[in-house]
Amino acid sequence: MRPRTAASLSPPQSAEPPETTATGATPRWRMPYAARPRFIQLETVTACPAKCPFCPQHEIRRDPPRMPDDTWRRIVDQTRGWGVTYRPFLTNEPLVDRRQVEITRFIKANDSTARVEYNTNGLLLTERLGRALLEAGVDIMRFSIDGFSPQTYGPSRVGLDYEQVKANTTRFLEIWDREGYRDRTFTEVRMIEVPENRHEVPAYRQYWGPRCTEVVVTQLYQWPWTGQRREDVVPKPCLKVLDEMFFYTDGKATLCCWDVHGRAIVGDVREQSVQEIWDGWVARQLRSLLDDGRRDLITLCSRCNAYAGFDFTPFRRDDAERDA
Ligand code: SF4
Repeated sequence: MRPRTAASLSPPQSAEPPETTATGATPRWRMPYAARPRFIQLETVTACPAKCPFCPQHEIRRDPPRMPDDTWRRIVDQTRGWGVTYRPFLTNEPLVDRRQVEITRFIKANDSTARVEYNTNGLLLTERLGRALLEAGVDIMRFSIDGFSPQTYGPSRVGLDYEQVKANTTRFLEIWDREGYRDRTFTEVRMIEVPENRHEVPAYRQYWGPRCTEVVVTQLYQWPWTGQRREDVVPKPCLKVLDEMFFYTDGKATLCCWDVHGRAIVGDVREQSVQEIWDGWVARQLRSLLDDGRRDLITLCSRCNAYAGFDFTPFRRDDAERDA
């Protein structure tokens, strides 16, 4: 049977739906959704040179594999002046796309509120590309380097050359430091901590700490649909969808950055504006279901345990409000 996805929901032809869940009840939580997105991720290409065991990037089969220029330009043009932080990547390595300097320039042109952020594994970051990104006005550069030796890095970032990544990142940070970008661009080097690399954390901090703005040691997260069972569903809202939009190469928008298979499509920028998608019936229905803790009714979220331990009490509606 074909799974029920957001894309299969048919919006009503009439006016605004009432603020109710699919079951007709008033949602149990009221999450603070933004009036328009503050963060926009653009899957400008689908590729990545790595084959990391924890990442489903290799499962992506998207057509086209490269976002047409008029698609990303349309999204940026429609959101100018909104104070958006643009992330020109999704579940891919952004520097595979040779247009990133052009994309950064386009985003920053005539929009003092726009910010550009990259998360990269650093493999393809040549000195020339790094300097061009800095000159184009990139605001945030995050480097994912999971380990401080080839022995710990290799099993995590399969297919990448640790020494090359370390050299590229070190050189970029030297340019950033010596050529006057310290106050203009935030740089972060981050590591997912696992038992195999835990002993390297002090050395990691010692090496990268003085070289960048911030070192982050974080924990491994679990993507949806990677072993979670139906009965393990988390009956809670979600923090990931409050103010972010995510666009595939084909212009479709999905609810969540973890939706690599298109299970929760909320619109298509080739047919709707960004604001129409954000305010659209499908997006609002999915938010309403999440606010009622009904992840089980959303195919994508029904196998996701994100925020299982988070206390959503401050967002709880009281009984009087629900009965009104
Ligand atoms: S519940 Fe999980 S899959 Fe659903 S939107 Fe939140 S993080 Fe994404």
